[in-house]
Amino acid sequence: MRLLVNTAELGRVAGTQRDIVGDVDPSEIGIVDDRLTPDVPIHVALQLESVNDGVIVTGTVAAQWRGQCRRCLEPVADVATAVIDERYQYTVTDPDAFQIDHDHLDLVPLVREAVLLELPDAPLCRPDCAGLCETCGANRNDTICSCVAEPVDVRWGALDELRRTLEP
Ligand SMILES: [Zn+2]
Ligand SMILES: [Zn+2]
Repeated sequence: MRLLVNTAELGRVAGTQRDIVGDVDPSEIGIVDDRLTPDVPIHVALQLESVNDGVIVTGTVAAQWRGQCRRCLEPVADVATAVIDERYQYTVTDPDAFQIDHDHLDLVPLVREAVLLELPDAPLCRPDCAGLCETCGANRNDTICSCVAEPVDVRWGALDELRRTLEP
């Protein structure tokens, strides 16, 4: 899909809108990242709207990713969806706005940054993942191993003992 928009074609009449919807291959926009699911394109669904001094870009960019749960090491996969709301100006006056260069609005950096920011660095298979047992390596999400309970009990027991001796 084409991510370079000619703003002259878009029209400078405020309120003019144009949808930019389609799939883009990560390599086409310079993304090489192990977290992205191979052969699955990034889905771009943007709406451009002309305003007096530029163009407002809103919409979403969605990328399928895969990885490993940081606690239990099981494979995880999901879709990362970035919500886009950016302003491009012919003459930049807004410090958060981007420049429209010679009537050309390049959406590639926007899509690339949005995807990279949204990909998880340390994913979890679920928020309350119990992780692996430090002793036997069992996945505590589906196994209750016997090696966990006892050492912990002993430790707490010793602490209770200490507390008893310290109490007046
Ligand atoms: Zn997990
Ligand atoms: Zn264990």
